[in-house]
Amino acid sequence: MLRVAVVGSGPSGVYTAQNLVQLDSGVLVDVLDRLPCPYGLVRYGVAPDHEKIKSLQNNLRTVLEHERVRFLGGIQVGPGGLPAARLREWYHAVVYCVGAATDRHLGIPGEDLPGSWSATQFVSWYSAHPDSADDGFVRDARSAVVIGVGNVAVDVTRMLARGPAELSPTDMPQAALSSLAASRVSAIHMVGRRGPSQARFTTKELRELGGLPDTELAVDPAELAMDPAYADPSALPAVQRRNVEVLRGWAQAPPEDAPRHIRLRFFLRPVELLAEGGRVGAVRFERTAPDGQGGVTGTGRYEDIEAQLVLRSVGYRGVPLEGLPFDAASGTVPHLAGRVLRAGVVAPGEYVAGWIKRGPTGVIGTNRPCAKETVLSLLEDAPALVRKELLEDPLTLLRRAGIEPVQWAGWQAIERAEAALGASLGRSVVKLADWESLLTAARATGSQQAS
Ligand code: NAP
Repeated sequence: MLRVAVVGSGPSGVYTAQNLVQLDSGVLVDVLDRLPCPYGLVRYGVAPDHEKIKSLQNNLRTVLEHERVRFLGGIQVGPGGLPAARLREWYHAVVYCVGAATDRHLGIPGEDLPGSWSATQFVSWYSAHPDSADDGFVRDARSAVVIGVGNVAVDVTRMLARGPAELSPTDMPQAALSSLAASRVSAIHMVGRRGPSQARFTTKELRELGGLPDTELAVDPAELAMDPAYADPSALPAVQRRNVEVLRGWAQAPPEDAPRHIRLRFFLRPVELLAEGGRVGAVRFERTAPDGQGGVTGTGRYEDIEAQLVLRSVGYRGVPLEGLPFDAASGTVPHLAGRVLRAGVVAPGEYVAGWIKRGPTGVIGTNRPCAKETVLSLLEDAPALVRKELLEDPLTLLRRAGIEPVQWAGWQAIERAEAALGASLGRSVVKLADWESLLTAARATGSQQAS
């Protein structure tokens, strides 16, 4: 049998495992994750009110319950945990599907003022990521600025505008629900540095912003008109054309009286976060203008937008992995059809899939063909890879190294504990939000039994 370790149990890792077992009946797969819980950004990134996308977990579950797939949670690969070199010794092949673990920076003064966070920190908090902290995101805030116009920006804008009645049925942790329910944020400005036809959000996500209860959405027709494609969007690719059409409809709508307001702004690039009373009080933007080549230039005119809360939503970024080559410019591991390249040469037995392979772009489904490409490369290499003599079962070796993984039964125990917590709070499932609760739940029902 070919033994493969997949590092990361998000969509790219699970689709990799799925392709491996579907395309070759002689493959055994261990899917390792740093967290005791599987599903990566499907659990810790998809917004809690996006039930339908979250239900993708049911498809991913089927893969992790496959008889030749084993989930090994709570294993940190790299410094402080299991050395990556050990993994390469224990398996015929290792596929790294670790995503893009950090956020991009703006590199402007005031970026780190209290009250300014990356959208990733905010998302992790309301998604119950055990590494996140309750930083009082919305406390004392009346006006929020979201920098960036991608789908993450849309998610956090929407979550800021949702009321308790809409948040309560979600699986968000109780503390986040209480904070957001008590939020006094009444103005949310989502700001793009380029024009509406260059925004990165997708139309379905954009449309949702227009249908939020008790929330008025406004776009400035003059800002839309600055975009050369606005007058005639017919030549744009389908998504951008539909985005412009939706925005055009909103620009024509009469103003509404509502307790909350979302303002979509364009052609404003952030230049500084301004302090007030020791924390952020406003964001200074420079008005930009199209440069005729898809970019923008500064105009030397500035506008300050009040904000006691700033969420920087300007994209994710991959981080280097112990012992693997890394291209700092793209934040990815150099590869050839998924085979890791060391100094331009294929490194046999090492592969990548997902965001660490192609960068933080695309929707969940984009990971399917990406994983398939990698798996086809791996299976092509398999005849040479299986010649390597392996030691014992990696689970035995892990335990000998003093590492006790959370196995599938442990994860199922976490799921039961989350259902019980929800029931006790009069809600449906409520996520456990800290390491101790997760590990206690996982251990309580015998996750450590021998497999
Ligand atoms: P993204 O789509 O890359 O959007 C990043 C945004 O930040 C862009 O508007 C970009 O503007 C802006 N930006 C970058 N650097 C900036 C700077 N220095 N100053 C001002 N603005 C700056 O990233 P994302 O929103 O984090 O999403 C990541 C991926 O996850 C995407 O593929 C997204 O579709 C996906 N996702 C999907 C869903 C969903 O399907 N519901 C939900 C969440 C995320 P420019 O274009 O001008 O660079």
